[in-house]
Amino acid sequence: MNADTQLTTMNATYKSTGTKYNFGAGPSILPKEVFEEASGAIMNFNNTGLSILEIGHRTKLFQPVVEEAVATLKELMQLDSDHEVVYLHGGASTQFFQVPMNLLDEKATAAYTDTDIWGAKAIKEAKLYGKVDVVASSKDKNYTYLPKDFVVDPSSAYLHLTTNNTIYGTQWQDLSLFYDKKVPLVADMSSDILSRQLDFNKFDLIYAGAQKNIGAAGVNVVVVNKNILGKVSRQIPTMMDYRNHIEANSLLNTPPVFAIYVCMLTLRWLKNNGGIAFAEKRNEAKAKLFYETIDNSSIYKGTVAKEDRSKMNTVFVIDNAEVEKEFLSLCEKEGMIGVKGHRTTGGFRISMYNAMSLEGVKALTDLMKYFEQSKA
Ligand SMILES: *Cc1c(COP(=O)(O)O)cnc(C)c1O
Repeated sequence: MNADTQLTTMNATYKSTGTKYNFGAGPSILPKEVFEEASGAIMNFNNTGLSILEIGHRTKLFQPVVEEAVATLKELMQLDSDHEVVYLHGGASTQFFQVPMNLLDEKATAAYTDTDIWGAKAIKEAKLYGKVDVVASSKDKNYTYLPKDFVVDPSSAYLHLTTNNTIYGTQWQDLSLFYDKKVPLVADMSSDILSRQLDFNKFDLIYAGAQKNIGAAGVNVVVVNKNILGKVSRQIPTMMDYRNHIEANSLLNTPPVFAIYVCMLTLRWLKNNGGIAFAEKRNEAKAKLFYETIDNSSIYKGTVAKEDRSKMNTVFVIDNAEVEKEFLSLCEKEGMIGVKGHRTTGGFRISMYNAMSLEGVKALTDLMKYFEQSKA
């Protein structure tokens, strides 16, 4: 139990109130209000006496849910009328092949950036459909920085990037680097969509698995500029062609009804709580507190280039494996959930998505400071 502990050293105090904080990378924390409303809707959706789990997707009951999910996302992202929003099955990993299937002809070349395991997976799938030119890669240094000096052939079908590298903990801070390349821009924003203000209309296709910043697992958000579609010569299976989903308003077949409902609730929450501007401010405050803590520490070491550090997923190590273990078990005891690093990086990964409070990060950094002092 982690209720009401107080741990003190000469210079550090950590106080627990028994709250659990979930720093897991995904599926991850969502706002408490969303959990409450979604659980109520399982028993009685909008006072209909029916569960959200049993209503037909083409009924008058569900239609407004998907409409609000689309409209709120468009509003939050300030999308222009060329950009369509669809909710699709399959997770972000399905987009790794659905994107090239729709945008890359067999003889054409797409430009890709290789900055994390996710980007590498996207490259592997794209090669099934056409040629891939890896224009920038940080694989040489174990994905610990972002390569900013790159050239894109203007005849490329598109340029693909991962805005936030969930596993290694880097994030493109200046996306304008990508804006003048004169080719359609495609971004995997799975782990930082809606976390900061961007000119989303600069992107021709954005995709994100919902389970990190938007809602429940089981659905993908795809934002696409409709003008880039319909240009490849291959036959596309009905369910894989974005145009069919746009035309059917995300109801081409039975959609993941509950997952879309949770997205709608989370988007509504974000809209009612200051939108992306507010989320960005809070995310900056959390990241500042966190990075100050490791920068002022002699045992916690960040693993990536400072200028590329992610505000969503931060990765750090402790040089001594025994001490790492000890800190990990302290975290478990004190209700800090999901802090263990990805199996490929080791150490620790702290995910601070939109729904994570500043108090949560404060509690964790207090615990880190206490632990360091107790080792001194
Ligand atoms: C989590 C993640 C994925 C994979 O998402 P799935 O929905 O599990 O397929 C892809 N890209 C990035 C950047 C991610 O963070």
